[in-house]
Amino acid sequence: MIVIHGGAGALARQAMNGEREQQYRDALGLIVRRGQGILAQGGSALDAVTEAVRLLEECPLFNAGKGAVYTHQGGHELDAAIMDGHTLAAGAVSGVTRIRNPILAARGVMEHSPHVMLIGAGAESFAFGLGLEQVAADYFSTPERYAQWRRALDNDSGAVLDHDSASDPIDADRKFGTVGAVACDEAGHVAAATSTGGMTNKQAGRVGDSPIIGAGCYADDATAAVSCTGTGEIFMRRVAAYDVAAQMAYGGHTLMDAAQRVIFEKIQPLGGTGGLIAVDAAGNVALPFNSEGMYRAIGYVGSDIDIGIYR
Ligand code: ASP
Repeated sequence: MIVIHGGAGALARQAMNGEREQQYRDALGLIVRRGQGILAQGGSALDAVTEAVRLLEECPLFNAGKGAVYTHQGGHELDAAIMDGHTLAAGAVSGVTRIRNPILAARGVMEHSPHVMLIGAGAESFAFGLGLEQVAADYFSTPERYAQWRRALDNDSGAVLDHDSASDPIDADRKFGTVGAVACDEAGHVAAATSTGGMTNKQAGRVGDSPIIGAGCYADDATAAVSCTGTGEIFMRRVAAYDVAAQMAYGGHTLMDAAQRVIFEKIQPLGGTGGLIAVDAAGNVALPFNSEGMYRAIGYVGSDIDIGIYR
């Protein structure tokens, strides 16, 4: 099965219904079906999460790749990570500005370098050396994100979360639009991938949890594959994704119990909001969040997909 998320956040009451909500549902449905299809044909969890996150990056509705939020300085700085639960191999990139699909760069770091994480210009030249597509720095811009950034600057509101409250069912200015996917394949291997533009109006150079292995992304066949979305700094301080695995390994907790404990007992008490998606090798799924909504979809091979936005 595969599970995807398109970020967590508060609801925008004025945009609760209608066409826009349907756009999110359609996008989530299409993408989860693509991942389901890869798994149905015997593809690996790693390939399924890579492709799902690549498609989420391509979709301007979500804050990753095209449609990424702006930094305070008016640019886009993207982060992504991927981990293979079978081999415990991992790769990540951070602060990249011209790679069309940061998740492919993260996978490239994992498979074609001796390193786990590359940043900035070095990550970009490595990715372009692998033949990944280069785009102009303004490729990621959309009018909605521009307006959101201007609003944040005008209100002097510091770093804020994603999207446009007038049109997004989840309040744009209080939304974490990171995307992610976790999957479990036929062989019982799990994988996780996470990609983000970060937070609107973030300081240039700021790195959140998303590209940090163990914070916003983690996978181990022995426990779980996890992808997070939310207040990045709190997820980093709690090493949230790894903590799900650790609670299972050391505490004997089930996937559901471990995932809930991380969101409600570790993230929430420190003032963090957001959620995570997690699967284990037995095919269990957990999707806890303490925000009012989280864009999410589940696709078990051979079953109908399940899409959710609100609590
Ligand atoms: N966790 C992300 C970050 O802090 C934000 C998000 O989930 O949208 O960069």
